[in-house]
Amino acid sequence: MEHSGIATVVKNTGSQYLLSELPSWQLVPAVLRGRIRLKGGVATNPVAVGDHVRFSCEGEPTPEHPATITEVLPRKNYIIRRSTNLSRQAHVIAANLDQAFLIVSLYFPEIKLPFLDRLLVTCEVYGVPVTLVLNKVDMYRDQVPDQVDAFRRIYESAGYRVIETSAVTGEGIETLREACRGKVCLLSGESGVGKSSLIRAIDPTLDPKVGEISEAHLQGKHTTSLYEMYRTQDGAFLIDTPGLRGFGLVDLQKEEIALYFPEMLKASRECRFTPCTHTHEPDCAVKAAVDAGIISAERYNSYLGMLEEDSKFR
Ligand code: GDP
Ligand code: ZN
Repeated sequence: MEHSGIATVVKNTGSQYLLSELPSWQLVPAVLRGRIRLKGGVATNPVAVGDHVRFSCEGEPTPEHPATITEVLPRKNYIIRRSTNLSRQAHVIAANLDQAFLIVSLYFPEIKLPFLDRLLVTCEVYGVPVTLVLNKVDMYRDQVPDQVDAFRRIYESAGYRVIETSAVTGEGIETLREACRGKVCLLSGESGVGKSSLIRAIDPTLDPKVGEISEAHLQGKHTTSLYEMYRTQDGAFLIDTPGLRGFGLVDLQKEEIALYFPEMLKASRECRFTPCTHTHEPDCAVKAAVDAGIISAERYNSYLGMLEEDSKFR
């Protein structure tokens, strides 16, 4: 009997892939037929975790008689990393993400908002919806409630959901679990923010530290089998990525940058000039929104920083 169908890639073991039809979790070993290549892509891996693929197999697929991946279906989105900043070679980390969770903490380690804003821009460019997870609130919220409120205000007014969590007290974990349920989720966070602890809190049967590979380790290595999708007990599909720097920042033209600050994009429709850099132009609706406190000064400063940095390379 021929087994065939469409399934999602959940793991690349190097020589084989494991597929599953989601939301069930029945793993099908599969191999790639030689000719599949990403059309026009420079990716080192033609198939990534999260890819939807068509497969077929004579008889029941087993590791000895794996199914064959015959087609990679178009991706709704994907994120990549480059081996180096200047490299044209890119590795697709994951595809078809429903949601990215960026895990941050105000302190221990201290957050740098311009860096976070760059990551948010990257996710916007990739077309991946982002939720911010503010972890370790048990360590600082009582001491700096104003800063927690300010963080929330800045990012909620920009259009992002913020979930406050503590892997220690369990606060927010049920909310986080609910936000993941039924979705393919990317989890990312700078080392030390508590990403592994949160994954364990969401599902104690998962142990992300096992087989974890540090970011330093990734440099110049063949990264085929790093990323893997896990199914939680309550039906979420998590892809753990090491380090926020794990996915490369994208190159943007100066005039494109504001398109990826959702709140600026919205306001910019009322600017007198198009394009408008929202810096010196008269009747700029973005600057007016910053002055009126509708767009946060912090986000606007991050934007200016990106503009300036961008011009240094030109
Ligand atoms: P990762 O590097 O992001 O995976 O971070 P870990 O999960 O390994 O956590 C780093 C350290 O922070 C560990 O000592 C954890 O016990 C601690 N930690 C993680 N989450 C929390 C939290 O919500 N509150 C507190 N107080 N400590 C936490
Ligand atoms: Zn403007």
